[in-house]
Amino acid sequence: MNQLVELKLKPNFVAEVSNGYPLILKEAAETIDEALEEGTLLKIVRPNGKYIATGYYGKQNKGIGWVLTNNQTEEIDEAFFKVKFQQAFIKRDSFYNIEDTTAFRVFNGEGDGIGGLTIDYYDGFYLISFYSQGIYSFRETIFAALKETAELRGIYEKKRFDTNGQYVDQDDYVEGEVGEFPIIIKENGMNFAVNLNDGAMTGIFLDQRDVRLALRERFSEGKTVLNTFSYTGAFSVAAALGGAYETTSVDLAKRSLPMTIEQFSVNGIDYEQQQIKVMNVFDYFSYAARHQLKFDVVVLDPPSFARTKKMTFSTSKDYPKLIGEALEITAAKGIIVASTNNASFNMKKFKTFIDKAFKEKNQRYKILEQHQLPEDFVILEDYPEFNYLKVCIIQLLK
Ligand code: SAH
Repeated sequence: MNQLVELKLKPNFVAEVSNGYPLILKEAAETIDEALEEGTLLKIVRPNGKYIATGYYGKQNKGIGWVLTNNQTEEIDEAFFKVKFQQAFIKRDSFYNIEDTTAFRVFNGEGDGIGGLTIDYYDGFYLISFYSQGIYSFRETIFAALKETAELRGIYEKKRFDTNGQYVDQDDYVEGEVGEFPIIIKENGMNFAVNLNDGAMTGIFLDQRDVRLALRERFSEGKTVLNTFSYTGAFSVAAALGGAYETTSVDLAKRSLPMTIEQFSVNGIDYEQQQIKVMNVFDYFSYAARHQLKFDVVVLDPPSFARTKKMTFSTSKDYPKLIGEALEITAAKGIIVASTNNASFNMKKFKTFIDKAFKEKNQRYKILEQHQLPEDFVILEDYPEFNYLKVCIIQLLK
């Protein structure tokens, strides 16, 4: 078992942690031994030494660890993980039973009681993501607990804590069946090719499920759709299946071209009838403006932070500018799907970015729909700040 060390809180952090805030902030600790080993169990106490909670030490960008229980007698062992997994799987009962969706999140970190750990289900394969060296130190216990609670084909893992924010290439296979990738998963009847052993990403972002469905069902029929930062083109696939007249997918990464072709193909869509551009979105905006192209629907889903040779882009600074550029090539009464997964600001703040962009262009608008994390990405109701996904579907008014 991992070692247990006492962590004394500063007085003004006691109430928060006692009330259930799951994250252990660096500034909350009276002192912190920098030499503390990742994965060390923490007995979190008040300034007078009285027990509050048990957590683990694991450095992430947002904190130094997570609270695991408020019960001093509870051991952090295989039985602990088993109970947490069982509770989480019961919550996803409906997902396990839907035939036209075979990929979803079965364990969502602090929302399911263990920060720093997520588990996604891909048609019988379980993909475990570890967000710190600390939680990774529990891996054998976690695998054992998972095998006891889930009927699984195989386990893959992602170590999301490698240095410099870089994902170090590795073999992510853990045990069970070796996947023959890509495997095809279903989402609301759409097909997506997925590879669990090819870098940090799998080919699809499961948290956008509701937005893909909205786009397909309500905003695509007969429309021209521009999908920026398109990655494997999942939004383009949804739009095409929703009857879009034509989709245009734009992404800088070379691999986005074959991957987008693949996603169209596994859905029986002729990719040659669609546009796929490997280029910088901002260059595409200039190109489109020069050629007076207009799109009925523009999807904006940038990474939180991106750097190219020429520029850096940060959603918290540059989102209004991004919308502004998109407005130049959006048709009258068109739709902008504005999305961000930047956890450093909330929906309210995001809407101020939207408002700023539209005001600057003297353009009236109406937010038709807003989406955050879907039901399987369980979050703690008291702490909406962990609901990082923010999507607004905006209509231009004239
Ligand atoms: N919308 C996608 C996910 C986007 S991930 C989906 O739903 O699946 C972010 C993508 O932005 C990555 O594929 C990355 O290659 C791309 N990207 C980052 N900066 C870019 C830029 N300046 N121009 C074009 N693409 C960019």
